[in-house]
Amino acid sequence: MLFGPGRLAELPAELDRLGAGCALVLSTPGQSALAERAAALLGARAAGVLAGAVMHVPVECAAAARHAARRIGADSVVAIGGGSTTGLAKAVALDAGLPIVAVPTTYAGSEMTPIWGLTEGGVKKTGRDARVLPRTVIYDPELSLELPLATTLASTMNAIAHGAEGLYAHDGNPIVALMAEEGIRASAVALVALAADPHDLAARGDALYGAWLCGSVLGAVAMGLHHKLCHTLGGSFDLPHAEVHTVVLPHALAYNAPAAAAAMARIARALGASDAARGVFDLAARLGAPASLRALGMPAAGLDRAADLAVLTPYPNPRPLERAGLRALLQRAYDGSPPAP
Ligand code: NAD
Repeated sequence: MLFGPGRLAELPAELDRLGAGCALVLSTPGQSALAERAAALLGARAAGVLAGAVMHVPVECAAAARHAARRIGADSVVAIGGGSTTGLAKAVALDAGLPIVAVPTTYAGSEMTPIWGLTEGGVKKTGRDARVLPRTVIYDPELSLELPLATTLASTMNAIAHGAEGLYAHDGNPIVALMAEEGIRASAVALVALAADPHDLAARGDALYGAWLCGSVLGAVAMGLHHKLCHTLGGSFDLPHAEVHTVVLPHALAYNAPAAAAAMARIARALGASDAARGVFDLAARLGAPASLRALGMPAAGLDRAADLAVLTPYPNPRPLERAGLRALLQRAYDGSPPAP
């Protein structure tokens, strides 16, 4: 794990350390210039650039990246970008066992998890496999200076959501709880500073630090209601991933609050708020985040189906999953109402 401004320069040395000399460099189309910069740094260690990462790793993209890796005889993958790019690198690693060097430029935290995802015909499958956990991660805050504020906000809320659910995970432990609380605190402080000045390098560093901690929590313990709801809403109604997290989190926390008092107290403390759900809601509102599922394009007619899907497959959650309660939660999220106490 390398952390600090300018550390991208150590990418070639990190590949050497892994014994790799033929890397496939991945990015989204929007970050191709950064991928080319990384490839130039790597010189002969870079065998090709594929700027084809797309949200939720469609199987067609995964096939193209796997094919490119085979064609050039890649012995490693460099993922430079957000969760979509790391996700594409994971698809290659899952297939070919190649080591990943991740250079995150958002706060999604995928670089700290062994979780992969692949989307086929609109259905996203996820799983855990140690082969997809990046071997090296370079957190260089200079690379996220230009991340647009709206994406910064949504992505940081995504990190806060990992930390929040880690605090009431059925398989949690005191170390994970420490990381979660500190990750939420650092993320929230960074968000407020970045809303005032998106080019604040120290705040970009704090946001990456928060993302690192919260991503580690996501990788270590099972997520509950909030992540399952977001997965269902994103997958079934094609809503934007990180923004859905922002809208749903206060409501999921309010739903779970009666069954997870200690976790809620720590989330509230990390946010400097008196109530966890309200603290997240107020933070997002203060920074101008989208407040409702309606604003994200959710059809009102889909709320009943979303509630049905939410109770279809049981999973551990502090409060039992009750359809009527979840339908009410979804309605509040749809309307953008404050979380119900
Ligand atoms: P993303 O990777 O899709 O990036 C969003 C947009 O921001 C893209 O257009 C990208 O090109 C652009 N971008 C990224 N960094 C930038 C920068 N520094 N400057 C300017 N533009 C930049 O979004 P994300 O929120 O990072 O990732 C979302 C995806 O990651 C989802 O598919 C989600 O399911 C997945 N995810 C997976 C895990 C895991 O553990 N497997 C964890 C979190 C998220």
